[in-house]
Parts: sequence; C-alpha cells; structure tokens
Amino acid sequence: NADDTLNLPDEAATIALGTRLAHAVQAGLVIWLRGDLGAGKTTLVRALLHGLGYPGRVKSPTYTLVEPYQAGEFEVRHFDLYRFQDENEWEAAGFRDEFDGRNLCLVEWPEMAQGLVPQADIEIDLQILENGRAARLRTFSELGTRCLNAL
Ligand code: ADP
Ligand code: MG
Repeated sequence: NADDTLNLPDEAATIALGTRLAHAVQAGLVIWLRGDLGAGKTTLVRALLHGLGYPGRVKSPTYTLVEPYQAGEFEVRHFDLYRFQDENEWEAAGFRDEFDGRNLCLVEWPEMAQGLVPQADIEIDLQILENGRAARLRTFSELGTRCLNAL
C-alpha cells in the first residue's frame, strides 16, 4: 500500500494535485477526503472535476449532502457529510446505491457516517500548516494503489 505525503505550499498546488488526480482516477473509486474545515477538500474536488472536463461551478453540497456530476466519461458523486446525522437517512436518501462500483465517489467528512460509508480505495488527508497544506495520500485497495501509481 502506498503512503505518500505531499507538500502543498499554496492553493495553486492543491489545484495542481486535483488536476493530476483527474488523469489517474478510475470509475468506481471511493476517495475519502479528510481534514479540518478550510483544509482544501472542496478545492481539491473542484480541480478534479474540472480536470475531468466538468466546466461548471462546483460548490460543496453542505445541505443536500451529495451532488451528482457528469464529468467527461465519469459519473461523479461528491458527498459532504459534515451535516449528516440520521443513520436512517443513509438508505432512505439512496446513498448506499450511489456506491455502485461505477460512480467515482468523493467523500468529504466520511467520519460523520462511520460504518455506513464504504471503505476508501484512496484516502487523502489534508493538514493545515502555518504555510500551506500537507496532503497525505494512502491507498487501501489494489484499485486505489494502481491509480496512485499512475499519479
Ligand atoms: P474544505 O472543503 O476542506 O473545508 P475549502 O476547499 O472549502 O476547504 O477551502 C480551503 C481554503 O484554503 C480555500 O480558501 C483555499 O483557497 C485555501 N487553500 C487551498 N489549498 C491551499 C494551500 N495548499 N495552501 C493555502 N491555502 C489553501
Ligand atoms: Mg468542503
């Protein structure tokens, strides 16, 4: 399993990582995005979506919890589970069905739905530093490792 930490000195570096990820991801991947508020999770997702060819606005789905995108050949689901509370909502809202092995699922705040959200193929942990961010990239499956090897 891969475990790399990258230094992201400024926002442009976070965006560059998202762009690189767009060239490495595969359908069906589950990517967990961890880190405090303002760490850059949404910035990374936005750059990834733009890198896949989605031209529009990308805003975190803070209240709807998930936003669907068609980006190039990918069906992407961007989750922001910061406000997820009711465990019954997981199935009722159809979230389980979104992890279907085809959708590229990008999940902010996976820890808010522990035991419900499927395990990650790749986990990206963003840490706020005095100057910039550190991004720890870890893989937990063969698919995840293959993708990060292509990064
Ligand atoms: P999150 O989704 O983790 O809450 P956002 O992406 O919404 O975070 O916000 C991150 C903020 O940090 C933005 O203002 C962005 O410009 C800034 N930012 C992103 N990456 C970096 C970086 N590597 N260094 C400094 N600032 C960054
Ligand atoms: Mg966010």
